[in-house]
Amino acid sequence: MKNIILTGDRPTGKLHLGHYVGSLKKRVELQNSGKFDGIFIMIADAQALSDNADNVEKVRQNVIEVALDYLACGIDPNKSTIFIQSQIPELCELTYYFLNLVTVARLQRNPTVKEEIKLRGFNKSIPAGFLTYPVSQAADITAFDANIVPVGDDQLPMIEQTREIVRSFNSIYGETLVEPNASLPENDICSRLPGLDGKAKMSKSLNNGIYLADSPEEIKKKIMGMFTDPNHLKVEDPGTVENNPVFTYLDAFCKPNHLQRYLAGYNNLDELKDHYRRGGLGDTKIKSFLNDVIQEELMPLRTRREEYQKNIPQVYKILLEGSREARNVASQTTQRVKSAIGINYFEDADLISKQAQKFAHQIKS
Ligand code: ATP
Ligand code: MG
Repeated sequence: MKNIILTGDRPTGKLHLGHYVGSLKKRVELQNSGKFDGIFIMIADAQALSDNADNVEKVRQNVIEVALDYLACGIDPNKSTIFIQSQIPELCELTYYFLNLVTVARLQRNPTVKEEIKLRGFNKSIPAGFLTYPVSQAADITAFDANIVPVGDDQLPMIEQTREIVRSFNSIYGETLVEPNASLPENDICSRLPGLDGKAKMSKSLNNGIYLADSPEEIKKKIMGMFTDPNHLKVEDPGTVENNPVFTYLDAFCKPNHLQRYLAGYNNLDELKDHYRRGGLGDTKIKSFLNDVIQEELMPLRTRREEYQKNIPQVYKILLEGSREARNVASQTTQRVKSAIGINYFEDADLISKQAQKFAHQIKS
């Protein structure tokens, strides 16, 4: 079996640190491992329209931002295929057939969709396209025969739904589609990085994130204004590390050499946490350490982004070429799917000749 990756992001905003640790870093690692036969990275504009039908401009403007973020992170268009979902009509075609394999009740039970419906305040007026977007995601994944999908943990119910659709399709129509597996980051915290507010996950829609494209000044301002332990008022006060997003971000980003470089006196993060718990360690000190760590991590991304920003038409060209390549693959899968279902009338010489015989027989008799 081939090793193929499909993954993507909704162009509803610039990409943030959650995307970076939750999925982008892993994609670049896998891309550079040379172990994959295909890496497809999708800008999910059609999916973004499912809750932005009246705000197309937001989606249009963010396609290029997401593309720049990919390139900034080290996604290499010579090794990975970056494409725009709406440019592959076959994905709609597959969705249409897959919709028959899922019940409305099953879609309503999807925990991520449930959470997102609540978050967006849809109440009883849920767009049908939004409720069914996990089915379109199944089309995105299976169109490329992807077996690995690097995602954050909010996407696990989607992958499960895809697996169910694949099993159902293969059992009705014969072995046709590949069943994918999610690939989560090794570090649990990175599977769902919290927002700057410390509550929900960092999310474009909640605007509670540090964006990869933020300037050093913006990043510093966001970090220095971050929520910490509300009871840690004075430096001497004992503090709480659990659910304190400054420490959560350090758990996600801090490497041992960061302490040596920026905060001498501590051998590891546990020693820093213990000091905070005991009291005597101020929020400003750990926040400025976190700022040093994040600035160092994002510096090379900023440099690469600036280079690509100088040639935007070239970036659109990368997307055009990627979309052509992706369409080619998706269209072959769609042919295979239509043959499996039996709606490939014109290629089915056997069907045509049997029908001809049947009618010839009727004429004779
Ligand atoms: P939106 O609010 O529009 O849904 P989002 O911030 O949730 O945007 P998506 O485009 O939906 O981002 O998600 C893209 C990928 O990034 C998915 O694989 C998702 O699991 C991952 N991801 C998003 N937010 C986080 C996060 N805070 N921590 C880890 N992974 C994340
Ligand atoms: Mg999301």
